[in-house]
Amino acid sequence: MKLVFIGPPGIGKGTYAKMLSQKYGIPHISTGDIFREEIAKGTELGLKVKQYVEKGLLVPDEIVIEVVKQVLQRPECGKGFILDGFPRTVKQAEALDGMTKIDVVFLFEASVEVIIERVSGRLICQNCGAIYNIKWKPPKKPGICDICGFPLIRRKDDEPEVVRTRYQVYKQTFEPVIEYYRRKGVLIEIDSSKDAHIVVAEVERILKEKGLVKEQV
Ligand code: AMP
Repeated sequence: MKLVFIGPPGIGKGTYAKMLSQKYGIPHISTGDIFREEIAKGTELGLKVKQYVEKGLLVPDEIVIEVVKQVLQRPECGKGFILDGFPRTVKQAEALDGMTKIDVVFLFEASVEVIIERVSGRLICQNCGAIYNIKWKPPKKPGICDICGFPLIRRKDDEPEVVRTRYQVYKQTFEPVIEYYRRKGVLIEIDSSKDAHIVVAEVERILKEKGLVKEQV
């Protein structure tokens, strides 16, 4: 089960990937998470990519491709994987084709209004990083973290205007990659305006239809 997930920031892609990754025991590989971790640890790779990630610019293809190549060689990727945030350019997509055969590319879609509504309720703890949502997962005491008692804040990039800009940037960046997979006939579009459980159930239905996971009896 070798999958690629594509979708705008804030759509819930990370949540879907985590749910499926736990259920089927395949790793969720997010190149963004890898880079943030390496930067936090101050590794050689972290120092190399810091300047790009902090400015929101694409890390050069050669670096990203090499990182993904190394990760996919790990034994835990043998059964399959979910790639999230990669490929972002046609060159990366071509390089990935040279490494392995991707079974399905899922494209998660929802209007920018739905995404704004989804992220506008998000609150995070500046101290421990816990994530809440006013609507779906409110803290016990308004504005205060349940875990450590620090005040909760709204992330700067969750403001509606910033979400709109990130959506436009996403469209421009990913369009050639989406087109690349559409032409290859492996792209499946998923309506993500519904609840995460419904979206994940739809993904699983398709995986079963394609014989990538077994029917549950
Ligand atoms: P993300 O969490 O996927 O939004 O990624 C955060 C940042 O990591 C991006 O803004 C880029 O700087 C970098 N990055 C992640 N994946 C890639 C990729 N496939 N190609 C180039 N840069 C990437």
